[in-house]
Amino acid sequence: MALIQTEGLVLAVKPQSEADLLVTLFSRELGKVQVAAKGVRKAASRRRALAQPLIHARYLLYEGSNYLHLNQGELISAFPELRQDLEKLLSAQYLLGLWERVLPLRQPAPRLYRLLGAALHLLAPLDTSLVLTYVEAQFLQVLGLRPEVNHCVQCRRPLGAGKSWWALAAGGLRGECCGPPYPGAVLLSPRLKRLLRCFFYLQPAELAALEVSAAELEAIHQLLAEHASQHLEGIKLQRPLIDLSAPVILGDERGNQDGNGTVRKNGYSAAENRGDLSGGPAGPGGD
Ligand SMILES: [Zn+2]
Repeated sequence: MALIQTEGLVLAVKPQSEADLLVTLFSRELGKVQVAAKGVRKAASRRRALAQPLIHARYLLYEGSNYLHLNQGELISAFPELRQDLEKLLSAQYLLGLWERVLPLRQPAPRLYRLLGAALHLLAPLDTSLVLTYVEAQFLQVLGLRPEVNHCVQCRRPLGAGKSWWALAAGGLRGECCGPPYPGAVLLSPRLKRLLRCFFYLQPAELAALEVSAAELEAIHQLLAEHASQHLEGIKLQRPLIDLSAPVILGDERGNQDGNGTVRKNGYSAAENRGDLSGGPAGPGGD
């Protein structure tokens, strides 16, 4: 049995049987893979901690007939600082879900791996909305879906410091050279345009120094979400609604109750969650 050594982040888990889980792992070396984790739901399993959503670990895997299988592993981080804060935890869950939906199986994606790792480490110390907006912008950038923010989408002239309008269907900004794409199109102030650019070009370490208001973050998020819904089929940048009255049940512990397509209390639908961390209430069928 040849063992495969890899480092990875757990995006999602779902029960496979009473004792087994199927783990969706984002491996640095292999891309998104499905890993059968036999016996990890037993209370005595020492590998249980490796097969939970929001875990960063080194894994030893081996090939089975349908899936990779978990042999053993070594925990790097369980992100305790995110688990202690509902808003941070649901935000991490939102990012894991985005990655899970967009990644194809078994295609290494090192830039998306680095971005997700950086995002999970930035979420605890920095403002949640700042990090999510940055990650949404970078996510589109890495996928090759960045809106055009440097040249007028109509005439391709470089956008100067003046006014710009959001031209959703054309995939970016129109400058004063061409004017608004239609009456009432969203007008971006020179400052908002500069900020929008920043989110595509800043390094993660530079984010803490960026001065941006909550209203500006929301405006940029809305632009990115509109752009994504137009240009990234089936993927919505739809952030979780934080409901402090709903208990958060992590991964495996919530059992099989999900997956029926019902809208959950915190605003997620099970279809969007697809087996990752759940922010929803525990139902009577939970284990
Ligand atoms: Zn133009």
